[in-house]
Amino acid sequence: MSFPSEVDVAIIGAGAAGLGAAHALDNSSLSVIVLEARDRVGGRAHTIMAAPDVTFDLGCGWLHSANQNSFVGVAERLNFEIDKTRPPWRQQSFDAGFPLKERADFIDALDAFYDRAEQAAKSGRDSAASAYLEPGNRWNPMIDAISTYVNGCELDRVSILDMDAYEDTEINWRVRRGYGALMTAYGALCPLALNTQVTLIDHSGTQLRIETSQGRLSANKVIVTAPTNLIADEAIRFHPALPAKVDAARGLPLGLADKVMLALDEPEALPKDGNLRGATMRTAMGSFHLRPFGQACIEGFFGGNHAQALEDAGAGAMMAQAIDEIAALLGNDFRRKLTPLSESRWAHDPYARGSYSHALPGHAGKRAVLAAPVDGRLFFAGEATSPNFFSTAHGGRDSGERAAGEVLEK
Ligand SMILES: Cc1cc2nc3c(=O)[nH]c(=O)nc-3n(C[C@H](O)[C@H](O)[C@H](O)COP(=O)(O)OP(=O)(O)OC[C@H]3O[C@@H](n4cnc5c(N)ncnc54)[C@H](O)[C@@H]3O)c2cc1C
Repeated sequence: MSFPSEVDVAIIGAGAAGLGAAHALDNSSLSVIVLEARDRVGGRAHTIMAAPDVTFDLGCGWLHSANQNSFVGVAERLNFEIDKTRPPWRQQSFDAGFPLKERADFIDALDAFYDRAEQAAKSGRDSAASAYLEPGNRWNPMIDAISTYVNGCELDRVSILDMDAYEDTEINWRVRRGYGALMTAYGALCPLALNTQVTLIDHSGTQLRIETSQGRLSANKVIVTAPTNLIADEAIRFHPALPAKVDAARGLPLGLADKVMLALDEPEALPKDGNLRGATMRTAMGSFHLRPFGQACIEGFFGGNHAQALEDAGAGAMMAQAIDEIAALLGNDFRRKLTPLSESRWAHDPYARGSYSHALPGHAGKRAVLAAPVDGRLFFAGEATSPNFFSTAHGGRDSGERAAGEVLEK
């Protein structure tokens, strides 16, 4: 689509939220354009073929809370096969370093921690989730490791009120061809301007003026879906400034989660859709999904400070670490069966600057602040604005639909 000089509604960002908003405005009489900085749609949903027979979601992979997930219906309409195999997260496929009895103990400690935090949240007073670790409990480092996967950060940076607001129905499915591939198909018919980075939204006049890397356009209304770290860093500026939005975004930073993909020789030796933990008594450790969908590969997951340190160590460091952690459990000989294929680097991605949002202690209320419209013409969406499905792709999509509804109301 050619770059317009004037539209009714400009949507900034072609991730789940932006595409959700565009679809919701589809049958309105409004002219709409989605302005996307990257050369592709999907944002933090991105599927690649890491090898000819290895599908790899660098970003979102799971249809979390699948029985309430609006992408399930999208996948069905677009003929994307859904895999309902249960996730292996609470299993350990080998006794290596983590015998069954110990695992049961750990799960008990983890569940007791969640119960304490949930009870505390009932008071309505916010605090850091780390305050509900049992002092001296030997499983605390591993409970913190789980937080690095779930929240993208350690528990001292997680608000209990926000943690409590998240709706997890514990049903998790996957898209066989990839969540990112589904997002690409979902965005196929949306009115898009790719390679278009928005730098300024000037709302001082009667028309909104939007400055982009492709030139300037004017709009009556705008829906901003950029990740919180970009709003916090003022990578997109507003004139006049919107300090309440910048402050809200700073209270809802993106934590960090990264994935690696390793090719696996002699895959029969490992169970399909199994799981392996790289260590049991420290926070800095990966979690490994063995042969996802039965493919000849292992997918590793790193979070929080560990992921940040590995990204900072340079390209390839995370794949090397994954091989080291797996070899420490399955024996040094196992190295020769593993070949590095690919890794994500979401903190270094200029249009994401992290993986998914969490609220800092004391900032759980900031999701509503970020979501609130300004002057009936600036609207805000994106996973971080979702009240109970934040940090997820379906939360992002639903928030886009919500913002589009606000546009149509005003
Ligand atoms: C490693 C990893 C694993 C994950 N796992 C899961 C999972 O299993 N299940 C799940 O549901 N979710 C998961 N997520 C989270 C999920 O991917 C995100 O919550 C969701 O995709 C966010 O959608 P969004 O539209 O809010 O933001 P984004 O997808 O980030 O979309 C925002 C868009 O805005 C664009 N943009 C940014 N700045 C500008 C600018 N200046 N001008 C124009 N465009 C701009 C970006 O390029 C991007 O395309 C994961 C994420 C990561 C990184």
